[in-house]
Amino acid sequence: MANILVTGGAGYIGSHTCVELLNAGHSVVVFDNLSNSSEEALVRVQALTAKSLIFVEGDIRDANALDQVFAAHQIDAVIHFAGLKAVGESQQIPLVYFDNNIAGSISLVQAMQRANVFNLVFSSSATVYDEANISPLNEDMPTGMPSNNYGYTKLIVEQMLQKLAIADARWSIALLRYFNPVGAHKSGRIGEDPQGIPNNLMPYVTQVAVGRREKLSIFGQDYDTVDGTGVRDYIHVVDLANAHLCALNNRLEAAGCRAWNIGTGNGSSVLEVKNTFEQVNGVAVAFEFAPRREGDVATSFADNARAIAELGWKPQYTLEDMLADSWNWQKQNPEGYKK
Ligand code: NAD
Ligand code: UDP
Repeated sequence: MANILVTGGAGYIGSHTCVELLNAGHSVVVFDNLSNSSEEALVRVQALTAKSLIFVEGDIRDANALDQVFAAHQIDAVIHFAGLKAVGESQQIPLVYFDNNIAGSISLVQAMQRANVFNLVFSSSATVYDEANISPLNEDMPTGMPSNNYGYTKLIVEQMLQKLAIADARWSIALLRYFNPVGAHKSGRIGEDPQGIPNNLMPYVTQVAVGRREKLSIFGQDYDTVDGTGVRDYIHVVDLANAHLCALNNRLEAAGCRAWNIGTGNGSSVLEVKNTFEQVNGVAVAFEFAPRREGDVATSFADNARAIAELGWKPQYTLEDMLADSWNWQKQNPEGYKK
């Protein structure tokens, strides 16, 4: 069993990963500045698992704070979730995104190197793929220039980590390219709790269903897809969390830097998601069609064969499971962690 530092561990994907890490018997130190999360998530992670973790409130750009964490705990590997992720905001305040996501990642790997810790799992994104690629997307396809500054930070950090591993063979780095994480822990105690108006489809759908928002705007109805709406590869956050444990096992053994897609391999359209949500949960989601959103592609879904073959990982949950679990969380926590 290993001692894992989880940056951004109080967030949506991080909190679910902490549950799986603790259930698997690992020790967990969470390092998070709570800029987009609540400590309550970690209280619930510990209640769910009946295990304790260590929480350190701090910023990955703070070298001294990181040094203290590495000095105080014998860390074997780092899972790095910390960062900002709002696409629209990244266009308004690019420097804040470059600082948190790029400079923050540099600060983290520098601290790891000082502490002689060289195993890293990094949260990347399918957004790094060149838009000209045709789905299913595989890891050998070219990356491109993402249309927004958030995606740009993911691409830069990926490239930086690849170069780092080439320059220094002590590094063992997994780049996990997430497709569209949705769903929540079965208990409904932890889940996605976006601040302000959600950017992503799933939290928007659940907030309409719970009465916090009037109606969903479906961005575009004239794409070349099954029903004209955008197609994405939705992946249950618990499956995604488990991919980190598989990647961790792989990285504790191998050297170098390698990318893996984490998706189900299935594409679902916005209308399919909305309609299935209504059927599975017996709740209506008011909607209207709206113009296409700038920067969106028609279709994006994964070829996940590499993760299945090399990581020993396999997604377990269906779209119905994802939509039921998202609703279970939202219903139990209409205002997220606030109430
Ligand atoms: P989240 O915002 O819920 O979690 C990120 C966490 O990092 C938050 O708890 C936040 O407080 C913390 N954080 C932010 N900046 C920090 C800093 N400078 N120092 C310390 N902590 C900091 O987001 P999430 O959905 O859980 O995403 C986790 C990671 O996965 C992010 O890197 C994100 O870009 C990436 N990712 C997310 C998605 C998605 O759709 N959710 C898709 C692809 C990749
Ligand atoms: N979408 C939508 N309405 C919303 C949010 C998203 O129609 O309020 C669509 C979006 O155009 C895309 C899909 O839902 O086709 C998934 O979008 P999301 O922002 O969740 O993820 P992305 O794949 O863009 O990162």
